[in-house]
Amino acid sequence: MTLTRRLKSLIEAEGPLPVSTFMQLCLHDPQFGYYATRPGLGRDFRTAPETSQVFGELLGLWAALEWRVMGAAARFNLVEAGPGRGTLMADALRATRPVAGFHEAAGIVLVEASAALREVQTHRLAPHAVAHVDTLADVPDGPVIILANEFLDCFPARQFVRDGEAWRERVVGLGEAGDLVFGLAADRRPQGEEQTSGDAVEVQPGLSLIVDALSERTAPFRALFIDYGPAGAAPGDTLRAFRNGEQVDPLAAPGECDLTVDVDFSRLARLAHAAGLAVAGPTPQGMFLGTLGVEARMHRLIAQNPTRASDIHRAVAELVEPDKMGLRFKAMCLSSPGLPPPAGF
Ligand code: SAH
Repeated sequence: MTLTRRLKSLIEAEGPLPVSTFMQLCLHDPQFGYYATRPGLGRDFRTAPETSQVFGELLGLWAALEWRVMGAAARFNLVEAGPGRGTLMADALRATRPVAGFHEAAGIVLVEASAALREVQTHRLAPHAVAHVDTLADVPDGPVIILANEFLDCFPARQFVRDGEAWRERVVGLGEAGDLVFGLAADRRPQGEEQTSGDAVEVQPGLSLIVDALSERTAPFRALFIDYGPAGAAPGDTLRAFRNGEQVDPLAAPGECDLTVDVDFSRLARLAHAAGLAVAGPTPQGMFLGTLGVEARMHRLIAQNPTRASDIHRAVAELVEPDKMGLRFKAMCLSSPGLPPPAGF
């Protein structure tokens, strides 16, 4: 049995699958899903914390600063959603060691769907004790600071395509040769929130679950999301698959490649505003890291490791240059009402 075989039988039995169901199975099927079976993330795509340690260090210092702004609670949850190999949190914890009281106060909670990655994270972050939970809604009560890099982009997206005045959902079905193909659902969708002026639109239903989970919290929180996505218009068809650093056909090898979509930050902001949360951003990653002092941090690291100066410089440039990750990636912070604006925006 392979995931392709499983998807085909599912389609034979129940009809074409919405793109969101396809994504969910490809990424999270407990037996064949990408994250469940590939704890060695990093070959297929490279993320900011895996590019330069400065990224996790700055996010850690940001969290420590905001912990103080929020009143330096004696106990709070330092949460990372989608920690991958645990690199961001490891760098954040190392950088914040000198911050008086911060480590003693922080209960580290990791939101992770993959059992295999949970194991990698626990090892990587030892001797710190970490607790794992399934979703943001499961994070224990009390003040929290949440860091999430490249977490939202793997939330399954539904795609709708304009068909005259109506919209039809893009689905994965079977072609004449029995292979997986994209198609459009026969039934037309009523006009809904997914309505825009373009010809295709993507909606990640999971974004509203995140806002719901945050708005139910009674203690102060900050949640920092960094991901790629446009600042304004809603994404159209942005589903992409990556394998060994190359972009590949999303239908070619289900479960064996990473699937991602652009994050619709304007929708996230709308949902958060409607729920009464405070919204900062979206701000381009390069500007955000610049405001947090990426240059000074880089020079400090170079001073400590002079022989690696050009590698360190190149990696940081990757994070901040507008034609690299600096512009396409955005930072957005959702906060409980009543807090001052967060640093970096
Ligand atoms: N933040 C890391 C890894 C990004 S990969 C980095 O920047 O390097 C995405 C991570 O999110 C993986 O750890 C994946 O298993 C996790 N993940 C994806 N969708 C999830 C979901 N719905 N719930 C919990 N974890 C999820």
